[in-house]
Amino acid sequence: MNRNTPIMEVKGVGEKTRRLFEKLDILTAGDLLGHYPRDYETFQKPVLIKEAPCGEVSAVYVQVTSIPNQKKVRNLIILNVNVRDASGTMQLTFFNMPFLKKILKPGGYYLFRGLVQSRGASKIMEQPKLYSYDEYQKQTDRLKPRYALTKGLTNQTLQKTVQQVLSLYEFEEEYYPMELLEKYHIIPYKEAVFGIHFPADAEMLSKARNRLVFDEFFSFLLGLRKNRDLTEGLKNAYPMFETADTVRFLEQLPFLLTNAQKRVWQELRQDMGSPYCMNRLIQGDVGSGKTIVAVLALLMCVANGYQGAMMAPTEVLAMQHFETISGYTREYHLAFRPVLLVGSMTAKEKREAYSLIASGEANLIIGTHALIQGKAVYKSLALVVTDEQHRFGVRQREHLAAKGKDPHVLVMSATPIPRTLAIILYGDLHISVMDELPADRLPIKNCVVNTSYRPKAYAFIAKEVAAGRQAYVICPQVEEGELEDVENVVDYTEKLRSALPADIQVAYLHGKMRPSDKNKIMEEFAAHNIDVLVSTTVIEVGINVPNATVMMVENAERFGLAQLHQLRGRVGRGEHQSYCIFVSSKEQKETMERLEILNKSNDGFHIASEDLKLRGPGELMGVRQSGAFSFTLGDIYSDAGILKQASDAVEQLLLDDHELKKEEHRLLREHYEQIRQGSVDFRTI
Ligand code: ADP
Ligand code: MG
Repeated sequence: MNRNTPIMEVKGVGEKTRRLFEKLDILTAGDLLGHYPRDYETFQKPVLIKEAPCGEVSAVYVQVTSIPNQKKVRNLIILNVNVRDASGTMQLTFFNMPFLKKILKPGGYYLFRGLVQSRGASKIMEQPKLYSYDEYQKQTDRLKPRYALTKGLTNQTLQKTVQQVLSLYEFEEEYYPMELLEKYHIIPYKEAVFGIHFPADAEMLSKARNRLVFDEFFSFLLGLRKNRDLTEGLKNAYPMFETADTVRFLEQLPFLLTNAQKRVWQELRQDMGSPYCMNRLIQGDVGSGKTIVAVLALLMCVANGYQGAMMAPTEVLAMQHFETISGYTREYHLAFRPVLLVGSMTAKEKREAYSLIASGEANLIIGTHALIQGKAVYKSLALVVTDEQHRFGVRQREHLAAKGKDPHVLVMSATPIPRTLAIILYGDLHISVMDELPADRLPIKNCVVNTSYRPKAYAFIAKEVAAGRQAYVICPQVEEGELEDVENVVDYTEKLRSALPADIQVAYLHGKMRPSDKNKIMEEFAAHNIDVLVSTTVIEVGINVPNATVMMVENAERFGLAQLHQLRGRVGRGEHQSYCIFVSSKEQKETMERLEILNKSNDGFHIASEDLKLRGPGELMGVRQSGAFSFTLGDIYSDAGILKQASDAVEQLLLDDHELKKEEHRLLREHYEQIRQGSVDFRTI
């Protein structure tokens, strides 16, 4: 069995399970091993009742002090029982488990494990699990993997299949040279894969994760260096001059550019007129107005007689840019002749777009990665702007090179990254920072609340809608089942429809919908035919509906702070006062503390660094901080140390053997080529 063995060949996987795996993008044994646990369940030693923290899962070894009391409420059988240990007392509640009445005897000792909650001055546990003392002892301090699932697939099945595969898998030979493993204290790949799925203890897990994160960073940075080799000192094949078009456009715009926008626009003009090809990143916090600067560059490009392209990570965002720029074009009589190109267009629509692009009739092409990966042949592509997250890897460069001479490249990102990391992660680009928001913005008002606040929040949303505004509500998952105890878009929408006045239009949006449906919903929301949009994080990047003033995030504790900051960035984009409501379903102290950082600050850089301080670099498998780089495990903030090591290792390697020609680097070269081939560099949401 190897990475390409179809998952069907694993014992116990039939057609039904295969289809469930497919939903999780697991087609082969290799895919399965790459489906790392989402987190781990730990069975810690039992604690005293007094010491069991509220809001956390604990195990207690206690004596039953009352006869179980059973009552029926509607079709629910509720069983209450009192327990105590040397430190205090507690009440346990069970639902629909009538048989426990016979098992739990007053005076007997039992071990229960569950979420401890406060009720008034006392503590309770609802629906705890019952263990025998010995059975529990065996599990203590072991880490049990918990995987991302899909409806119909249990954690148990997934875990068993991983075990099966691991027992038969023929691992490739270790591809890093020995010295590298030693220098960076990295464990072999095989050990790491075992360790990430079935860690013996926290230390093993940490080592396994370190190795896999190092791998992700290493191959990313190797690609980056190859990219730099390709772009450094590249001659400007499309020299441009400033024309009256951009000056006129700026005069007509209803607002003045901020000083930061002016400065960056100046840098872009200089780059595109210089002897060298532009490779620039604009880093600017959400709402700083990056789009308009890109539009200016594109306008200068078409005014010089060339074609420009603008690429977005999602179709939803591509459509939005298309609408915005088409609107400017009509209103200000700009020289753009825009065309849209996205994957979900019909074959006929695509053919029409291709022909406009090839003939040069279209001079501005807006879309997703279909722009460079599809069959489009450009007449004179001179500038490619990529908005949010998309950056050119070596592979895209190759695609582009096949389409003509190297164009100028402008990348825009809202990911707040400290300078030291930006130099590593964007080593192939010049960086412009846009550190100023338009002057008319009112700071967003935030609150962090628990679920009991919901009725108030709904009343508030209703009030804002009545005043003509719109709202977003974010849930972590699409439908019931993938994660436990987490709100989902589909059910929540129903809930919200019945909680809000009937004349309020509520609709939902998520990543699993057909692209054309997604686009339709987004258009309807932008046109204000929808008042409240319940969504997953698909709207996280780039979406701009300035009339939306409320952002409510359910299960906020499940998101990284940088991600929450991005979500918040969807409101406060116009002149209206905007609000953000973070709903946490956990009352844990740390969760509240983290969310408080957001409450106190609207500055992306500040939030990212405070979050890092609070979590400490040692925290394992935390919530993901940023989707800006599509690493599976690695997190550029909390794994900054590993990132620096990987960067160092790549430098050393290339210094020693630039082409990876030496025999001791053969396996590494082969591995790198293999993953480069298999990888799609773009996130397709
Ligand atoms: P981001 O940097 O997050 O991509 P956008 O480019 O989408 O932000 O801009 C957000 C909103 O701010 C848009 O509606 C845009 O028209 C507006 N905007 C941009 N620049 C200015 C400015 N200088 N003054 C006022 N509003 C601006
Ligand atoms: Mg944007």
